[in-house]
Amino acid sequence: MIHEILPVGVLACNCSIFGDEQSREALVVDPGDNIAGILEVLARHALKVKGIVITHAHIDHIGGAQKLKQATGAPVYMNQKDTELQKMLDVQASWLGMEPVEPVEIDAPAREGDHLVIGTTEFHVLDTPGHTQGSISLWIPSEGKLVAGDTLFRDSIGRTDLPGGDARQILRSIHDKLLPLAEETVVIPGHGASTTIGREKRFNYFLQGM
Ligand SMILES: [Zn+2]
Repeated sequence: MIHEILPVGVLACNCSIFGDEQSREALVVDPGDNIAGILEVLARHALKVKGIVITHAHIDHIGGAQKLKQATGAPVYMNQKDTELQKMLDVQASWLGMEPVEPVEIDAPAREGDHLVIGTTEFHVLDTPGHTQGSISLWIPSEGKLVAGDTLFRDSIGRTDLPGGDARQILRSIHDKLLPLAEETVVIPGHGASTTIGREKRFNYFLQGM
C-alpha cells in the first residue's frame, strides 16, 4: 500500500495519504492544510480519494477538509463527539492567530468498530478520547500501522488542557486501546516522528507503570 506522510500547516500536522496500488483508491487522514500539496501527491500516484478521515476536530487537523472534499467529492468522516469543536473553527483560528478556514461539513460518523476499506485494506476506527472527546485512532492491521492523531506521540501523549481534554481519559484510552496492539505496530502520531507501540511502552515517560 502507498503511504505518504505530509506535515501540513504552521503546526506541521502529519497528514497521511494511503493508496491502494490495484484499485487506485485513497484515504486521506487529517488534511489540516496545504491541500495543493496533498492533491499533488494524489496526482503523482494517480489516486482517487474515497474517504477523508478526521482524527479530531482541532483546526490543524481538520482545517483543509472542506477544500479537499470540494476538490475530490470524497465524504468526510469524524466522530460526532467532536461536533462542538468542529463548529467553532473560527474561534480556534483566533486562538492560534490563524486565518479563518471554511466551515467543514461532516458526511458520516466515525465510530468505534467501524471499518473503512480501501482496495482490500481495512482501516479500523478506535475510540481514543482524552485529547478531545471525539478523538479517534485508525488501526490498519494488515499494514501493522496505527494513525494515532494527537493521542500518542513518540515520547509523549496529547495535551489535555484544551476544552474537551481529560488527562485520566487519555491514559485510559492508550492503556485499553493502543497498548494491547502488537509491539511492532508502527505509530504515526499527529505531529512529529513515527514510533512503535513497543518503543513507547518501554521509553515513554507518561506510560511507565501501566
Ligand atoms: Zn489536537
